[in-house]
Amino acid sequence: MNTSNFPQDGYDPDDLLHLSAKRILVTGGAGFLGSHLCAALLAQGHEVLCVDNFFTGRRSNLRPLLSNPRFEILRHDVTFPLYVEVDEIYNLACPASPFHYQHDPVQTTKTSVHGAINMLGLAKRLNAKILQASTSEVYGDPTVHPQTEDYWGNVNPVGFRSCYDEGKRCAETLFFDYYRQHNLPIKVARIFNTYGPNMHPDDGRVVSNFVMQALAGKPITIYGDGSQTRSFCFVSDLIDGLIRLMGSAEDVTGPINLGNPVELRIRELAETVIRMTRSSSELVFEPLPQDDPIQRQPDITRAGRLLDWAPQVPLEKGLETTISYFRKIIAATQGAAEK
Ligand code: NAD
Ligand code: UDP
Ligand code: UDP
Repeated sequence: MNTSNFPQDGYDPDDLLHLSAKRILVTGGAGFLGSHLCAALLAQGHEVLCVDNFFTGRRSNLRPLLSNPRFEILRHDVTFPLYVEVDEIYNLACPASPFHYQHDPVQTTKTSVHGAINMLGLAKRLNAKILQASTSEVYGDPTVHPQTEDYWGNVNPVGFRSCYDEGKRCAETLFFDYYRQHNLPIKVARIFNTYGPNMHPDDGRVVSNFVMQALAGKPITIYGDGSQTRSFCFVSDLIDGLIRLMGSAEDVTGPINLGNPVELRIRELAETVIRMTRSSSELVFEPLPQDDPIQRQPDITRAGRLLDWAPQVPLEKGLETTISYFRKIIAATQGAAEK
């Protein structure tokens, strides 16, 4: 082969293998889902720019990726404009745990709304495809069960959860208005409760709380009587769904539910975690937070039809991996304290 047209210095024949590689921006890339997404996109050969203000995200989530020359991190708050050059954008920036998103509710709404405007403006300038990490919270405390994408939801606009729920609803509106008004290629995923390694050990979400409490032999805190339900999706399944959605046909905009339809009561989750960790923890009951949804289960017919997607990891398998992740975190913290 005549290589005379190629620059001789720094020429890497492997580059030819990556002609389909893209430059991809992941906002919120240092968080739980974002860190797995960055890893999966790098593994596919793409260049990844992670943008994060490190509010709930952690550098340690990204440690395995730092040596990859196709990976970059930029500390930046998405409520401010961002000028970079990329081909695709996954917009994940936003705290997801009620404990964190209620810490500074005004900033939470700004992150969803101003963040969406800035990322959509960036996508518009570049004509880049953009995916929004929306949420099952747009259904609020649902009166339709299981939740289908055409259900408009039952959301309190002025409660403690509203900064998150209404911020995410407004972000969806913005995505669809940029689509209709500016012809922007958009994708909107409505993500249901997801768990797995890289969850923040004290972010207050139910899986991290229960596993950390069980491993420490502390009481398991059930809010309410534990009869409320959730459906838990393991992180690898969710990331697969997001990547499939981004790669889907142009006319597939969503919204599309992504979650595991196996529904269980919070009390059952507590009992499963106690059994799997062989913990002696007892159950304690605390007041149910305001507007805590009573039941939640995704209808994933649309994701099956349009993305050929369905979760593969059963709860106990996913919990096993998650429990061993939290065991390692505890061991590392104890090791550091003893030094
Ligand atoms: P997370 O809190 O672990 O990650 C969010 C990331 O966004 C963090 O790294 C945080 O530092 C960053 N961030 C927050 N505000 C920012 C800002 N203003 N500018 C830049 N970065 C900012 O949460 P997660 O579970 O990884 O969730 C990721 C996305 O998925 C969120 O948008 C969340 O709403 C959505 N989602 C998650 C779940 C779930 O169960 N994990 C469910 C539904 C929706
Ligand atoms: N924006 C950005 N990066 C870009 C282009 C735009 O962050 O590369 C932000 C900018 O703050 C702008 C917002 O996105 O206000 C919306 O952009 P758009 O072009 O839709 O509207 P504008 O406000 O510029 O009229
Ligand atoms: N929950 C609980 N104990 C905890 C943390 C949460 O009983 O220590 C309950 C919470 O009230 C809710 C469910 O578990 O009914 C899921 O809570 P999470 O914060 O994980 O997510 P979300 O409410 O946003 O679905």
